[in-house]
Amino acid sequence: MDKLLAAPKMPDKVRVMCVKCQTPFREKIKNIREGVQVQCPNCNRLITFSTDSADPGVQRAMTDARRIKNGMMLSINRPDQSFVG
Ligand SMILES: [Zn+2]
Repeated sequence: MDKLLAAPKMPDKVRVMCVKCQTPFREKIKNIREGVQVQCPNCNRLITFSTDSADPGVQRAMTDARRIKNGMMLSINRPDQSFVG
């Protein structure tokens, strides 16, 4: 079904830094989107992903997830390969 997500080297998780306990954990990219809430596995703090969030850990995670979705990491490794659309 998700053929675009089936690239073998594409990571399916990004690192999220909890602002409460400063402990990074990995969350699935598909969960890193507007309005989704996850719980820190270390301190159980509820983290809400939002582009308007003041939480730098949330901002970083959303940026990383967007970059991976857009194939930016692959394009950096393979500059001759274009990612149009
Ligand atoms: Zn935490």
